[in-house]
Amino acid sequence: MGNVGADARTAGRGAGRPMRVLVTGGAGFIGSHVVDAYIAAGLDVAVVDNLTTGSRANLNPAARLHEIDIRDADALVRVFEQERPELVSHQAAQASVRLSMENPSQDAQINVLGSLNVLEACRKTGVRKLIYAGTGGASVGEPSYLPVDEDHPANPLSPYGADKHAVEHYCYLYQQSFGLETTILRYSNIYGPRQDPRGEAGVIAIFAGLMLAGGQPVVYGTGEQERDYVYVGDVARANVLALTRGAGRMYNVGTGVSVSVNGLFDRLAELTGYTQARKHAAALPGEVFRIYLTNDRARDELGWLPEVDIDEGLRLTVEHMRAKLAAQAKEKGGR
Ligand code: NAD
Repeated sequence: MGNVGADARTAGRGAGRPMRVLVTGGAGFIGSHVVDAYIAAGLDVAVVDNLTTGSRANLNPAARLHEIDIRDADALVRVFEQERPELVSHQAAQASVRLSMENPSQDAQINVLGSLNVLEACRKTGVRKLIYAGTGGASVGEPSYLPVDEDHPANPLSPYGADKHAVEHYCYLYQQSFGLETTILRYSNIYGPRQDPRGEAGVIAIFAGLMLAGGQPVVYGTGEQERDYVYVGDVARANVLALTRGAGRMYNVGTGVSVSVNGLFDRLAELTGYTQARKHAAALPGEVFRIYLTNDRARDELGWLPEVDIDEGLRLTVEHMRAKLAAQAKEKGGR
């Protein structure tokens, strides 16, 4: 992380005091890694999370948890008044494409109105900067050229993609009209430890979880669909770099490389010792077929490049899942 932690610490308001940051969704998969990285950089961290998909087990014990819903604007402002964060990393969201297709209005209430509440709480309490977790896949839709850069048109195919993209416009206008610095990090497909294998979003967690448990992973469609997979530790590092850089800018957080679902299946089968053949089912609606993001801008302006390649990242993920399963089995045996 170089001297970024030092930059961030000294960016605090009072001399010698750590910068106060607040992470929404800090008990979730990505948010909890962002919290860990901020704490490792010496920052004072508060978390807002309603624990719908997040959990206390994910949360760094050095962070203060406020268990509230971002749809509750008044409660949010009260927490901001109490915590007085200088910077907010906004990771909380309803992050399921499938649920957004089933209930677009609820998705918008959390992802648009909830995000607007976060932006408003920033404005009302004098927060200096907001980092927003955007999405480079779902917001772009089926790409017209590859790799996708930050200027690619956004034609989302799901309410989730549309909502996440809408908030990018709010970030822009809050910077221009209200003076709140905003940096948008457009994540590609993120994977790694703490991703829920029982969810329906992270294909790597789902496949690895089922393979380790002797279940049957299902490949939707041909399996030739390709994505750009970024290890979660690299995403956390992008959130650290954005503490002091990238005001008013949007960055892809991707690898520039794509891997097919079938390719993931084969690599994970090898790592887990899984021997059953692939099972296919109908393709899912709202899914982009092939996408990967260029990271040139993040490299040039944030000094960010992914450090963990897919083979190393998959190995780390499977190792973590194995250790978790072993701990759970031990706990059960001990009862
Ligand atoms: P996650 O579901 O693990 O994390 C979301 C967190 O937000 C959870 O802790 C959840 O409890 C919390 N949350 C949800 N609704 C809330 C509400 N109404 N009020 C307060 N807290 C609430 O998902 P994730 O994969 O870690 O996603 C984190 C962020 O990254 C999201 O904004 C998501 O849109 C974005 N993103 C994720 C990916 C990916 O591949 N996982 C890709 C692109 C963008």
